[in-house]
Amino acid sequence: MAYVISDSCISCGSCAAQCPVSAISQGASQYEIDPNTCIDCGSCAAQCPVSAIAQG
Ligand code: SF4
Ligand code: SF4
Repeated sequence: MAYVISDSCISCGSCAAQCPVSAISQGASQYEIDPNTCIDCGSCAAQCPVSAIAQG
C-alpha cells in the first residue's frame, strides 16, 4: 500500500521535495501521492510538520 496524505495537509511542499521518485504533487486543495509511483520509503511521512502522511 502506498502512503496517503490526509486533509490535515497545509500544502507546505516539504514532502514533495523529499520524495525520491517524485510521486507527490500539488493537487487542487492539498498535496497528493500517486499510489502507482510511491515506493513506500516513508521519507515524506518523516518530513511532514503536521503528521498528515500515513501508510494507507
Ligand atoms: Fe515518495 Fe517515499 Fe513518500 Fe512514497 S513514501 S510518496 S516514495 S517519499
Ligand atoms: Fe502537506 Fe505535510 Fe506534504 Fe507539507 S509535508 S505538503 S503539510 S503532506
